[in-house]
Amino acid sequence: DGRWFAVRVTPLGSHGLVLVLAEDLTDMHRTEAIRRDFVANVSHELKTPVGALWLLAETVENAADDPEAVRRFAGRMQYESVRLTNLVQDLMTLSRVQGDEPLPDLRSVSVDEVVAEALEGCRTKASAKEIELAAGGEDGLRVHGDQELLVSALRNLVDNAVAYSPENTRVVVSARRCGDDQVEVNVTDQGIGIPDGEVGRIFERFYRVDPARSRQTGGTGLGLAIVKHVTGKHGGDVTVWSKEGHGSTFTIRLPLLGTAAGGTAARKDAD
Ligand code: ADP
Repeated sequence: DGRWFAVRVTPLGSHGLVLVLAEDLTDMHRTEAIRRDFVANVSHELKTPVGALWLLAETVENAADDPEAVRRFAGRMQYESVRLTNLVQDLMTLSRVQGDEPLPDLRSVSVDEVVAEALEGCRTKASAKEIELAAGGEDGLRVHGDQELLVSALRNLVDNAVAYSPENTRVVVSARRCGDDQVEVNVTDQGIGIPDGEVGRIFERFYRVDPARSRQTGGTGLGLAIVKHVTGKHGGDVTVWSKEGHGSTFTIRLPLLGTAAGGTAARKDAD
């Protein structure tokens, strides 16, 4: 049934009896295969912008007497460098949050500030597409966490909402208390949506519904994996509702600070 076993057979005495020990190695094989895939993916993703930079540098060298061409290729070199920097930055963030170690230095964080900073980081990209960014919901909510990581998670969601929406649409970020002990932050777009069959896979590292489109928008393919691990590390989770062709809502849930349940879940990570 696709499981892997190591079998050890030891003879017992001279009566033909044997002791058979079977060790289930399935999980080890799976972990090793995932690790190998990840390294192969990272290498491929790094090679793409480095290869492009190499070619562009060569082209610039040959176009030295055409200042206009040099300017154009230099611009593309800058674009590839930004892609490379984003990828390395995302890999570093992911390695910080996907291990077993708890996050150090968790503090009381204002959800309003996280939302404001995440929106601020996406304004230029949104206005280039005339997408309206709006914040709403309840004020004054707080969680126990790492502000920089929470901003990075929410920013990834807003960034995607903008990237996968057509021009002249609206992206709304809204926070609210959910039950007694949770905060919910919703990011809703009017974009292309996600096909039903793909929703289960988009949180995997480097998984893209449409790889060409993702690269075109400058995506690293790591954004949602970062969101999943950052929220998980804070004792929360991320879910998505989506309808292809209509839009998506990504929901981050985090333990609310100041309630028994919220405090306990957050402190577990802080220990
Ligand atoms: P990427 O860098 O490719 O955006 P992510 O991990 O952030 O990587 O997202 C994975 C994939 O999920 C994207 O390539 C895209 O296909 C899909 N996706 C994410 N957010 C949205 C959204 N708001 N609307 C439609 N598709 C989305």
